[in-house]
Amino acid sequence: MNKIPRPVFNDGVALQNLSNNQRVASYPSLKNAVANIQQGYVQYEGARGNAFAIAKVNISPEVEAHLKAHYKAPPSDLEHITEMREATEHLTCPMCGSFHRGTLDHLLPQNSYGAFAVFSLNLVPACKCNSKRKELLVGPNVSERILHPYFDDCLAERLIAAHFEDLGAVPRVELRLCVDNTHPDYSAIDFHYRSIVKRTAIVGYIRDRWVDLCRKPSLIVRALKHNPQTLKELQDVLQDELDMLDDVHRGKNNWNSIFLVGLLDQRVLGWLFQQIHAPGRFANGPLV
Ligand SMILES: [Zn+2]
Repeated sequence: MNKIPRPVFNDGVALQNLSNNQRVASYPSLKNAVANIQQGYVQYEGARGNAFAIAKVNISPEVEAHLKAHYKAPPSDLEHITEMREATEHLTCPMCGSFHRGTLDHLLPQNSYGAFAVFSLNLVPACKCNSKRKELLVGPNVSERILHPYFDDCLAERLIAAHFEDLGAVPRVELRLCVDNTHPDYSAIDFHYRSIVKRTAIVGYIRDRWVDLCRKPSLIVRALKHNPQTLKELQDVLQDELDMLDDVHRGKNNWNSIFLVGLLDQRVLGWLFQQIHAPGRFANGPLV
């Protein structure tokens, strides 16, 4: 999960140009639908991508099929789609916080919202987590919806932390929300977390990080090559690492930050400090 900069692209003009392009299959049927679709773009932006506030735009099945085909194989007027697919593959997934993207997906599914099939603000880079949710967009309860990485500011806050139980070589790993139901976007955050993040491999990833930390601490936090002399020093080292991870991954809800913030729990800190200073252990040696 990450808030990411929205694409800077004039969709209204691109659509207009596309509708006048006699060399593409959507000509001339798209021409009559342009004003309607452009109006839809304006209200999508006005509603800040909130699935509850965006009205469906009525277009003919023929125009809808043309737009979907243009999304699959973008003509020159829509070459931003190709660029969006390729430019950011290596960055943190804004939907779940993993470390790759690989696909470009429709935030509002194109089968239900065909008019937004080529709309840049409806196209978000994501890893396979987003295709797993398929058409899921809103939940059965009030305000439950998938968050929008271009619009939902709460995605820039720290929303998820790892939680460790049975501290030892292989602990029990859970995830917990860092916000409670007094947060104005709580229902959406919780729904997004349950519908997308929880269905990924994040728990296994975090467990593996823990195992590596116990095997050789500097593999996970380079500064732990040397033993911190006080609990406060250990806390500072981990806090510095967390700040760095938030910065590197351009947000607080990437999987490494989610792992690290779990280590800063007082109970976990105490356990780590005790293991670091276990009798007979040499610096950067195994913790268990
Ligand atoms: Zn993802």
